[in-house]
Amino acid sequence: MERKQVLLISLLCASTMLWAQGQEQTASPRPQQWDPKSTEWHYPVPPKVAPAKAPGAPPADAIVLFNGTDLSQWESADRNNPGPIAWTVRNGELIIAPGKGSIKTKEFFGDCQLHIEFKSPPPGQHDGQNRGNSGIMMQGRYEVQVLDGDNNPTYVNGMVGSIYKQKAPEVNAYTNNGEWQVYDIYWKAPRFGTGGELESPAIVTVVLNGILVQNNYVLKGTTPYTGMPTYTAHGRMPIALQDHGTEVAFRNIWLRNL
Ligand code: MG
Repeated sequence: MERKQVLLISLLCASTMLWAQGQEQTASPRPQQWDPKSTEWHYPVPPKVAPAKAPGAPPADAIVLFNGTDLSQWESADRNNPGPIAWTVRNGELIIAPGKGSIKTKEFFGDCQLHIEFKSPPPGQHDGQNRGNSGIMMQGRYEVQVLDGDNNPTYVNGMVGSIYKQKAPEVNAYTNNGEWQVYDIYWKAPRFGTGGELESPAIVTVVLNGILVQNNYVLKGTTPYTGMPTYTAHGRMPIALQDHGTEVAFRNIWLRNL
């Protein structure tokens, strides 16, 4: 063997040894050997729920809050005028009777999935917050704004799709005045400790006409017209619909407890 060849082989051997040493020093510990079955579980089995046959219709496990005729799920939210609601039912629509007060569900709710459709009245001479204003009051105190969003400028954290005075929608997904608008609201109720302290805030996802407008928004508290949001301890509460003086119509209201 020539001297050059010997030198080359020696160099190769030396560098291989050095490389192997380096590998030993940096190699991670042997990965744990998982049994694939150890990360699979079989209980509890999620219940089977039959989806609706038509898009937007209530699935099998939904509580139907308004089906076009029956008002038995609702009562007046006006403390001075409790009892049956004074809103109008016409052609399968539940229409606000302006000045007759807001309404609320008799049943109390926490985490839920709420489907509700609304139609703004003709705009007339009204603008901004006076054009088709209503609201879906989650647990009676956190407002997902209902407003005519058809060429109707107003403050953006008060437009349709907003969490009132807290968060503007990601986009304006309203179509046209006179057309039905479809809200799907996914609500995680706030949690409070035994001393009344806030343990976890409310979180909401809102889809308007199939378009995401609020994405897991963490609420700062209630949604007052004046002042800042606050939290006051509460449990399950009714859902309310706001009377803001215009004849907004609602239909196809259903809810799933989560
Ligand atoms: Mg409102």
